[in-house]
Amino acid sequence: MLLILPAAYAAGSSQIQNNKKHPPDSHQKQIKVVATTYPLYLLTKNIVADAPNVVVDLVVNSYAGCPHDYHLTPKDVIKIKSADLLIINGLGLDNNMADKIADKGAVVDTSSGFKTLERGEKEHKSPHGHHDEHKHDEHKHDEHKHEEHGHHEHANQHLFASPRRYANLIDPIVNKIVTFDSLNSHIYLKNSKAYKVALFKLADDFSKLMSKLNNPKVISQFTAFEYLAHDTGFVVIATVQEHPGEAPSAARILKIIQQAKENGVAAIIAEPQFGDRYVRTISQQTGIPVIQMDPVASGPEAADLTYYEQMMRKNMERLQKALRDGQE
Ligand SMILES: [Zn+2]
Repeated sequence: MLLILPAAYAAGSSQIQNNKKHPPDSHQKQIKVVATTYPLYLLTKNIVADAPNVVVDLVVNSYAGCPHDYHLTPKDVIKIKSADLLIINGLGLDNNMADKIADKGAVVDTSSGFKTLERGEKEHKSPHGHHDEHKHDEHKHDEHKHEEHGHHEHANQHLFASPRRYANLIDPIVNKIVTFDSLNSHIYLKNSKAYKVALFKLADDFSKLMSKLNNPKVISQFTAFEYLAHDTGFVVIATVQEHPGEAPSAARILKIIQQAKENGVAAIIAEPQFGDRYVRTISQQTGIPVIQMDPVASGPEAADLTYYEQMMRKNMERLQKALRDGQE
């Protein structure tokens, strides 16, 4: 022992000096994780938090909202190609971004394998142009079929706007990150566990409040809150626009006004980042109040890690107030 020790000591100290100049293995290399959308960026930031070897970047401008019909800029493509790991929403929202990466192993499709709801429950356009408008119950397909879609032509893309489903998107991301940086896996796993607890608590609080309402019926400007409604118990009677930028017909507005009156709808949900012109018309014609709710599709890039929870709790309060006071 006595003879070996000084030699090992000497070798050890020279190695330390070398390590400073040349990182010995890939664990020391900085990993670049790029998220396509704001909610996934925020989720990844929560998973990574104070881990030393990771940078998180965002493709779409943080205030742009969901990239429906989004056109990638050359700068976006450079950013995507520079990613060690690309986190995408999937369901057809941003799959075109994943196409820019040659190594498909670097892509995490967060929605893959999860059940989805069909977009625009009460009206959706068929790609073939027929049955423009139909009701779900006329279709006679079972709940299983309704929830689970093999293709994502009609799937609602906003899993992130329901806290319970948002929490479920953590595992696909963290499971991939730990393969890139196993040395710090304990940090990612710890952060993920804590954030899941917070999101599930938020989801439970939301459901609890919704179970005590007088009248859970709403009209929604867009389709972003269909998962939240399904998961927590308020009911979307009709959706005004399937996409921002897609103008509803006058006939459609009239029909929604009629549906609102017939069903005794308590509130109309509008999203703060879009104009609420059609929603205002419906409100004026029916006397039903408009409330602003934020699906957290956008927000400040340097947001606090609790930003999603803060926004969702604000949504919860507004919805609860409107629906609690709503007349049956
Ligand atoms: Zn959207």
